[in-house]
Amino acid sequence: MGTNLKLLTNYTAMETKITNSFSFIKKYFVLIALLAAASIYLFSQPQGVRLGSDRDVIPGYQGWSGDPDTLTVYIDTSFTAEEKDSIRTAISRWNDAGSVPRLRETSDAPGNISFTRHTFASDTLGLCTNSTDANGDVTSSTIQIGEDQGGLSLSELATHELGHAIGLADTDEAANPSDVMKGTGPTNGSDGTLSAHDSTELAAAGAAAVAEDTDKKVAMNPMAILPGEFAMLDFDLGEVFPPDVIDQTGVFVSPIGDPYLFVESAFIEANLLRVGVFSDPLHGSGNLYLAVELLFPEPYSPMRFWGTHYIHMFPAEPVTFECPFSFNEDDGNVHIDWVEQCTYPLQHPLRAELVVDGTEHIYQRGGGNYTLMLDPGPHLIELYVDDYQVNNAYYAQDILVTGVPESEKAIDFVVYPNPFSQLCRLECPDDTRITIYDMSGNIVCEIQEGIKHWKPSLDLAFGIYFIQFRTEDQIKTVKVIYRN
Ligand SMILES: [Zn+2]
Repeated sequence: MGTNLKLLTNYTAMETKITNSFSFIKKYFVLIALLAAASIYLFSQPQGVRLGSDRDVIPGYQGWSGDPDTLTVYIDTSFTAEEKDSIRTAISRWNDAGSVPRLRETSDAPGNISFTRHTFASDTLGLCTNSTDANGDVTSSTIQIGEDQGGLSLSELATHELGHAIGLADTDEAANPSDVMKGTGPTNGSDGTLSAHDSTELAAAGAAAVAEDTDKKVAMNPMAILPGEFAMLDFDLGEVFPPDVIDQTGVFVSPIGDPYLFVESAFIEANLLRVGVFSDPLHGSGNLYLAVELLFPEPYSPMRFWGTHYIHMFPAEPVTFECPFSFNEDDGNVHIDWVEQCTYPLQHPLRAELVVDGTEHIYQRGGGNYTLMLDPGPHLIELYVDDYQVNNAYYAQDILVTGVPESEKAIDFVVYPNPFSQLCRLECPDDTRITIYDMSGNIVCEIQEGIKHWKPSLDLAFGIYFIQFRTEDQIKTVKVIYRN
């Protein structure tokens, strides 16, 4: 309730400040008030395999399938009575903060959200997996609690993971040390009680679920803006508008679910919407969201979108980087290792989202590499990494999970995918020497020992190549097709 009151105050202030017509803002407020919270992971639709490319829009969390009022939470029998109470504390925290859908414990398995245990690699404390349908709406969520909780109480860890299930993204530890939703680092200092920023994100998440069909536009500013300072955000409207059209256009811009952000001015200049914003110095570091409505004169149609950008205490300069990962499998566990290979050149913490087969969205408390249980067979693994602000990278590869225990595997040399574009994986024992030849027998590349992929240099022609694997007692050559 507290959250809604803050929203009301904020929206009312915005109306008097910058607009003459309140209809759009009222519509937004009513939607938020009625449907309130749900979610906003920086979620994304799979867009085919690509490397190192920027997200061109902020992918939007779309809420739960069927927009339920209540989600059931099942806590499985691996938790003691005392541990179940800790998870109930977490459930109450989100309900008390105004979460819609509300959360309600059930004794029937599975719940919409299910708590279970899993044995993780040591750097993984908890994992939330949201399953989505073809529309991108969440259909179920599984929360796995690690044996090692890294010094976090169960109630704090459970609060964090439940936040993902209702649509909140990880936040930057360095800038938001008291957030329960921070993606890495120690306790938030209050054993998992929500911070003001957690509550703001909950409100924005609710609005995002309501506005699932609304376009999103990221501001063109190359860096995050600073809390507590005035900033001008520019949004590309896609066409140049003549002055007389601009004069007759109604421009309505307001913050979404954010009592710490204020719109000071908003106007169109040629092809840009320019929005002057000011934020409270206490504004958390993360995303900012603006509801934008532009009412153009005939014959132009109205334009509505969410303007988004980043606000951050420690703005990162724009850089490009890549986040390739390697994959290996041992006795039913699949390891996705990316941390050591990520080329991010700055000191900011990073956030990752792993998407399996386009429908399983995995968030991991504590950051780091992933250890997963996957069914045998082919899987598409997509990794999104960002620095909680302007810089991001994407990497995807098809993997084949054999399900065969390591001890039963014969030594084999495998290249996949084949044919490939950009990069192929090389499966072989660690001490294998790998040499790549072209059709004429010329050496094209010698792969450094320990590296299990081949990424041809950009000037190498497409065509057929031969990959030779050589160990102490074996030699094998695999024909591979490199194509566009
Ligand atoms: Zn998380």
